[in-house]
Amino acid sequence: HTLPLPPLSLDPIFPQLFINNEWHISSKGRTFPTVNPATGVKICDIQEADKADVDKAVEAAKAAGERSAPWRKMDVSSRGRLLHKLADLIERDRVFLATLETMDTGKPFLQSFFIDLDGSIKTLRYYAGWTDKIHGKTMPVDDSFMSFTKHEPVGVCGAIIPWNFPLLMFMWKMAPALSCGNTVIIKPAEQTPLTALHVGALIKEAGFPPGVVNILPGFGPLAGAALASHMDVDKVAFTGSTAVGQLIKETAARSNLKRVTLELGGKNPCIVFADSDLRLAVEETQKGAFYNQGQCCTAASRVFVEESVYEEFVRLSVASAKSLVTGDPLDPRTSHGPQVMTSRLPSLDERTAEPLLLQIFGPVQCIFSFKCLPEVIDRANSTKYGLVAAVFTKDMDRALSVSSALEAGTVWVNCYNALHAQTPFGGYKMSGNGRELGEYALAEYTEVKAITIKLSNNL
Ligand code: ADP
Repeated sequence: HTLPLPPLSLDPIFPQLFINNEWHISSKGRTFPTVNPATGVKICDIQEADKADVDKAVEAAKAAGERSAPWRKMDVSSRGRLLHKLADLIERDRVFLATLETMDTGKPFLQSFFIDLDGSIKTLRYYAGWTDKIHGKTMPVDDSFMSFTKHEPVGVCGAIIPWNFPLLMFMWKMAPALSCGNTVIIKPAEQTPLTALHVGALIKEAGFPPGVVNILPGFGPLAGAALASHMDVDKVAFTGSTAVGQLIKETAARSNLKRVTLELGGKNPCIVFADSDLRLAVEETQKGAFYNQGQCCTAASRVFVEESVYEEFVRLSVASAKSLVTGDPLDPRTSHGPQVMTSRLPSLDERTAEPLLLQIFGPVQCIFSFKCLPEVIDRANSTKYGLVAAVFTKDMDRALSVSSALEAGTVWVNCYNALHAQTPFGGYKMSGNGRELGEYALAEYTEVKAITIKLSNNL
């Protein structure tokens, strides 16, 4: 890719609710502002979805998913072509979408363009390829029966999205849901609704039937909670804080026992052995700690370095941190932008002065030293979370043993934040339930139906 630049003038921004392939104003007539965190300036006012709007969207999504509706009657390969078409349109609007993402989140433009947009397009294309490959099994069964399974859509899938990777998290949820034939209602985070709404326009342009995808900007306790408690929503996929994840699971249980997948926080350990490529380890763990201004559930928050190289590691890490270029996130030279919620800054500063670092969701790296292997494994695992972990060593035997011993849904060896559409992602322990991405995610968006036939001709 040649170096892209943000456009000088912006295409129109879509500030309304997207239901049934149409733009709606909020039932209560309420709006809320979305603000550029780099400047503190309001970008525009957005229509705020209320419970009545959630009801309207659920009705649309339910109708679009009926057995006789075009979406369910469509050939599975045509479903794949629609997903590819959407990916084509996102590619066409890539510079604009990257600009919008940077304006709404403060993340550096080049990261929006090369990472968020690249990951979004690849996720769509990966799941576009699955639509005609989601098949069941035939089981050898007792007596004169024959059994086979079919994988059917779950139904209406709600997706509640965070503000750190607004477009990418939207795609992680929407792409597998649509690939399996579900219909979707997305609630973007109130801080960052703009890219999702632009994708609404592209969904219509691509030719998805009305109601297959609905986008409801709004607040968590209102629109989010209305989705989680709705009796006609069959599944909710959530990425965000552990506290809200617990609320959503409770709400789902109390309403209609809808299926829930959760991708929550982490206190992710990195283990750096003395035999590792130390410069690589410094670079990758620091990328892990500071990438996206530290606002990642995968943030490398606890780095354990073998005692003999600890001093050197800290020295190199300090030098590397000083080379970060902070500034206007739309400037291609900027490598580190502002926090999404500038209102959270004082609390971040205060917390860096405390010994307790448990709740930091920002650019803070903690480096500890360790003496021996069993000790460092215990320390790495001594948290209620288990999202990701990393190991740096040239000894592959040790890398594999350590990978097996770590309680985490992902272990990176000599790399960090290496996420791919093909590879499952999700947490052990309180980091979440279920897996996103890869073939594993298809199981979260399908019901398995077993069909058993009595055979009367016993030949
Ligand atoms: P953070 O604390 O990092 O902002 P949250 O978990 O609060 O993360 O937010 C992630 C997403 O969850 C956002 O879309 C937010 O609006 C939504 N949300 C927040 N509270 C609730 C709730 N009670 N029910 C449903 N969704 C919620």
